[in-house]
Amino acid sequence: MSYSEATKIKKIKTRPKVVTLSSTQRITCPECNNNKEFLEVSDGVILTTRFVQNTDGSFSQEIDDSQVLGQVQFYCGDCGADLTQFHKRFLEMLF
Ligand SMILES: [Zn+2]
Repeated sequence: MSYSEATKIKKIKTRPKVVTLSSTQRITCPECNNNKEFLEVSDGVILTTRFVQNTDGSFSQEIDDSQVLGQVQFYCGDCGADLTQFHKRFLEMLF
């Protein structure tokens, strides 16, 4: 086991605030108990929008296609705590 892995495990063990979610639980910030507002921050995003030029020279937007190249992180919308551990759950519950 490398030093960094050992540090990681130790950190998790000493942080009792990290909770495991059951399938029915709502995501709640362990720092401030906010369960309403969340932020998803995407790194290195390429936004591509396709436009079609009309006969009169005006443009119509056809497709809005965005691509995330970097990391996606998930934060509490209230206190800004890093809730990336809940991001997978957030995506599962996103409709
Ligand atoms: Zn919070």
